[in-house]
Amino acid sequence: MTQELSEDILYDTIIVGGGPAGLTAGLYCARAKLNTLLFERGTLGGQIAITDLVENYPGFPEGISGKELIGRFKEQAERFGLRVVRKEVSRLERVGKEIFLHLRTGELLRSKTVILTVGSNPRKLGVPGEEEFINRGVSYCATCDGALFDGVPIAVVGGGDSAAQESLFLTRFASRVYLVHRREQLRAQKHLQEKVFSNQKITFVPNKVVEEIRGGDFVEGVLLRDTRDNSLSQLPVEGVFIFIGLEPNTVFLKGSLELDDKGYIITDERMRTSLEGVFAAGDCRRGATGQVAVAVGEGCIAAIEAERHIEERF
Ligand code: NAP
Repeated sequence: MTQELSEDILYDTIIVGGGPAGLTAGLYCARAKLNTLLFERGTLGGQIAITDLVENYPGFPEGISGKELIGRFKEQAERFGLRVVRKEVSRLERVGKEIFLHLRTGELLRSKTVILTVGSNPRKLGVPGEEEFINRGVSYCATCDGALFDGVPIAVVGGGDSAAQESLFLTRFASRVYLVHRREQLRAQKHLQEKVFSNQKITFVPNKVVEEIRGGDFVEGVLLRDTRDNSLSQLPVEGVFIFIGLEPNTVFLKGSLELDDKGYIITDERMRTSLEGVFAAGDCRRGATGQVAVAVGEGCIAAIEAERHIEERF
């Protein structure tokens, strides 16, 4: 695959990022017989690939694992000829009518259109001990690391859908899951909250922030501060799972096109960014909802708009 990449080819569409939005855009572009490449620097699927169970994507009444869902997306897109390339795009610019993409490995590629579906990454707490204990008790992925915490108490930090859903998953392994949230109430969907509060293995710890993650070779506990009276307390746990939201993977786009103050790509309703010929879809776009169904819809719109752009401009 790699040897086929060439500066001499003017591709129709290059998609950057292989999550639900990117693979859907890829499916539509490939079916439209556009000469399309999809670049993915890490694991296909992004956040959804590490989600244990997706229950709200239509068509799967029993739910489906994120990994399996992504596998199906990929299979379907590749059946129509989408080419997936494991490389990282480091910069893009518009030169005349074309978009130039610079790869981390030094190659330059040219395309008529680009669809950015770079998604987002877990936000960090930024407290002492967090970096130090990554892979030694601190984790951002329950599906990846949950089984390592069999029979021991753990803390989950956050109050959104991810914290609630992953707390439920982690009860399969941990002896107790302390769900630590900085507010009185969770913001997770009601049906997830109901499941959390009826689970005997989950203890909700409201109005607390993590001040520090402590331990020796591995995590041994967290220092909590009460948000109402600032009192400190210790919670003895052997694992800390952090689910406090996401940050868009858009640092490499700074200066190339318009981002909002949080780094999300600004588009119009046709998924057009401020750089002509460049479209964006999914969780990297301003207004992201973190829903696979939305990412899929936006990926579809971006592909249709890219095709239209090619017809009108080339
Ligand atoms: P989120 O909805 O942004 O929630 C982040 C949570 O972390 C909030 O409760 C927030 O507290 C808390 N938080 C943020 N910064 C913090 C800090 N520094 N210290 C302590 N707590 C902090 O993030 P998410 O749960 O990862 O979800 C991301 C998106 O994916 C959402 O749109 C969500 O709906 C979607 N998602 C959907 C599903 C599903 O449909 N089943 C599953 C997972 C995720 P505050 O409440 O105080 O702001």
